[in-house]
Amino acid sequence: MAEENLKAELRHVGKHFELKEFFQDLKVIKPEKPVGFIEWVQKYTFLKGKPFSFDKHEYQKEILADTHPLQCIKKSVQIGISETLIRKFLAFMAMNQGTQGIYTFPTSEDMRNFVKTRFDAVIKDCAKIDELGFNVDNVKVKQIGTSYAHFRGSFGEKETLSIPSDFNVHDEIDFSKPNIQNLYRSRLEHSSFKWEINCSTPTIPRYAIDEMFEESDQRHWHVRCNACNFWQVMTWLPEKGKVDQNSIRIKGNLSAHIDKFDQKLEYIFVCKKCNKPIYYNPDTVKMEWITKHPDRTISRGYFLNALVGWGYKTAGSIIASFYGYKEIDKAYNRILGLAYSDPGRKLSRDNILKCVNRDMELQFVGRNCFLAADQGSPSWVIIGEYDNIKDKIKVLYFEKVENNLFDHVGKGGTVEKGRISELMEKFDVLSAVIDAQPNTESAHAFAKQHPGKVWLCFYSDKQMAKYNWKPDDFVVVANRTRTLDYSVKYWLDKKVEIFPQDNYNYEIYEVMIKHLTSMTKVIDENEDGTRTARWTGPQDTHFAHVWNYLCMATEADSNIVTRIISPGLSGFSMNK
Ligand SMILES: [Zn+2]
Repeated sequence: MAEENLKAELRHVGKHFELKEFFQDLKVIKPEKPVGFIEWVQKYTFLKGKPFSFDKHEYQKEILADTHPLQCIKKSVQIGISETLIRKFLAFMAMNQGTQGIYTFPTSEDMRNFVKTRFDAVIKDCAKIDELGFNVDNVKVKQIGTSYAHFRGSFGEKETLSIPSDFNVHDEIDFSKPNIQNLYRSRLEHSSFKWEINCSTPTIPRYAIDEMFEESDQRHWHVRCNACNFWQVMTWLPEKGKVDQNSIRIKGNLSAHIDKFDQKLEYIFVCKKCNKPIYYNPDTVKMEWITKHPDRTISRGYFLNALVGWGYKTAGSIIASFYGYKEIDKAYNRILGLAYSDPGRKLSRDNILKCVNRDMELQFVGRNCFLAADQGSPSWVIIGEYDNIKDKIKVLYFEKVENNLFDHVGKGGTVEKGRISELMEKFDVLSAVIDAQPNTESAHAFAKQHPGKVWLCFYSDKQMAKYNWKPDDFVVVANRTRTLDYSVKYWLDKKVEIFPQDNYNYEIYEVMIKHLTSMTKVIDENEDGTRTARWTGPQDTHFAHVWNYLCMATEADSNIVTRIISPGLSGFSMNK
């Protein structure tokens, strides 16, 4: 309206005005400039009774303001990122009326706790949400004016949400159902925003948040030393050789290796270049996000370790929390914000026996099962099923196959069924992964008989993603290290249930444990100084690989089989 009035006025007094001046004036008169996330959050939300501020948390500002549609945040614990994301999510709904958003957590229990303790606290204090109207308010849906915020756990829900969405936030994706973001991405299809943020403390290398961050533009929070003007990311690593690259040192003995927390010592933050102490002071110390790969525009990545909180954490408290963890991988993940794979890591007998479910029994038939086999003489087979509710793989049966695995021509020229054909029928197998060698021809012929169900596995180090399904060739190409990491993680995270050992299966059970526990992860130093992880072991590790194939088979079901068994079998050649 202001613009129309001014135009009318201009018509009257037009001859005294230059058009350019008029538009300059218009800018000044314009009633309200659109409010951004930072302004909205500072104006309308509170934290612990005080207006939300970025004091000592300057790094949160850009994460809050960023409007890039695809972002990932790889972070340590307790640096206020959840508080930032909660506010961003609510501000989005409030500022863009008529939109919907989905916020996911690992389990529905996590979701309930988080909504009750964190979201409700922000909403209760927010006058703007109150003003917009707030009719629906329960733990799963909140109405904000004409927008709706939905909350879900990735596990423990009967189904994924099927509503359209404008903004998906996936919190703690490393602990959520694998590929949770893909399950919900189709919800964004009809949105003009299509925003997605993935956030987590990392777990193992190249998994979930770590993989996303690797592929992003990789933003790091930099601090400038006032003594030497060197811009640096503040980091600390416990390795002996890293002392002079660390931002935390012992006062009075800067070259000492910190291998424990000692109350009697004083820990300080120092510049990595000139070694002089640096003290947090936002007025004098420059701090900003710097992008490692500005050419990458598809996704934005933010990395935050505990040291970004140097304004409110002491150097000593960071060391104390690191060494406060009993398990080194958790200390790396939660304090340093780094994915960690323990060299020398292997499964123990205990890891496996902890997955025994006393209520289960060895089974000889089943429905909708998955099969994996390592072929040779002898061959090895494991059969399992996937429990969708518990997100666990249940081991129902395993066998050492002494006779023919595949169908073969017997005496008198008749085709005799191989053991695998019998097992496919008995367990009503949904999908199977078998190693492609040594009997490649027999395996290929068998896969051709079961298109979309049977996959031949080739390991390849060149395979960058975990694996690549090639339906036309009946093949899955798998990254050996990464898939084995993943399959070991199932046992460590107790995402496996197995029947107990008894007299009937005593011997083969021992063989299975021996194979699984004899694989060790080692780190090779390459000539260029980079490091490569590799699983190695003695000859007899067949069941370790069969287990790996079984994990793959359960994923083939969700990703590929549904597509392939749909009518038409498009793009799928049956006669190759
Ligand atoms: Zn310096």
